[in-house]
Amino acid sequence: MYRMPRNEEGDVVFFSGMVNNEDSKQFFLENELRKDMENQYQNFRVVYQPIIQVEQNNSKWIGAEALLRYSNPEIPNLNQMDLIRTLEYSGLIIPIGRWVIAQAVHECSKWNRMGKSKIVHVNLSAQQVSDVGLVEYIRDLCKEEQLEPSNLVMELTETSMLSNFENATAFCNDLLQLGVRVALDDFGTGYSSFNYLKNLPINQIKIDRSYVQNLQENQYNQTFISFMQQLSGQLDLEMCVEGVETQEEFDVVKNKGISLIQGYYFEKPMESEMISREFLKRTIQA
Ligand code: C2E
Ligand code: CA
Ligand code: CA
Repeated sequence: MYRMPRNEEGDVVFFSGMVNNEDSKQFFLENELRKDMENQYQNFRVVYQPIIQVEQNNSKWIGAEALLRYSNPEIPNLNQMDLIRTLEYSGLIIPIGRWVIAQAVHECSKWNRMGKSKIVHVNLSAQQVSDVGLVEYIRDLCKEEQLEPSNLVMELTETSMLSNFENATAFCNDLLQLGVRVALDDFGTGYSSFNYLKNLPINQIKIDRSYVQNLQENQYNQTFISFMQQLSGQLDLEMCVEGVETQEEFDVVKNKGISLIQGYYFEKPMESEMISREFLKRTIQA
């Protein structure tokens, strides 16, 4: 069994700054991830951030985005981007990616059995596009869990879509064929070329949250969002704005008539039991 490296006093040294060797940190983290995955994915879990559909006078939780979490007490301050990068770099994103999809499909199926139709979004890394058999895996999961594939939305970032264009478009076409929907995540952070948008097999664009910060004071970002809204309308794509944190940001987004919103202004990501309870409460109230 791999043990956390300690100094002579017995203090854990990696991540404490006493040994600042990136390779050793990486090695330790990878080992812990591998070990936990083999141990029935212990320390991993998936949380869910609601996606809100805003209408004139009310708002409705239409579903949620599944977000991976890893809490290993031996690695207390692991940042999410380091986690995802390590999973990608080590290839572990392939099995953990499938595990996240299975959790999300299971969870969404549960929400749907409780009453009204809910959707779940799942993030995919660029490497997962090359996971042979992934589309069939998703098809079988949906069958087993009796979830309509159209209740599942796979999110790919603009950068991963374009860095691997042929594979990614073939993969997304296969998803669409199955009935699964596709969203282009973090839009505006990559190449942001508008030319390719009309040719991509996608249903939705998610505007990156960097465009939303202090939106009320940023004319450029407001113009960008309005322009994207017009363009997505013409291309028959849905548009979601993420990262809405404040009343002021929400007011601008709402006044532009944007209806799909995610952000701390509504809810932070929540544990699966919690979101189920919320959906149940809302289903009963509705
Ligand atoms: P993302 O897909 O863009 O997910 C949105 C991130 O923004 C989440 O961070 C969410 O907690 C955070 N967020 C949502 N609303 C707000 C807001 O109003 N303000 C602020 N400041 N943040 C907000 P999280 O969970 O730390 O995830 C970070 C990234 O990690 C995700 O960005 C996604 O790229 C990646 N990720 C998470 N789970 C998975 C996964 O299962 N597979 C893959 N491949 N990547 C994942
Ligand atoms: Ca996402
Ligand atoms: Ca995003």
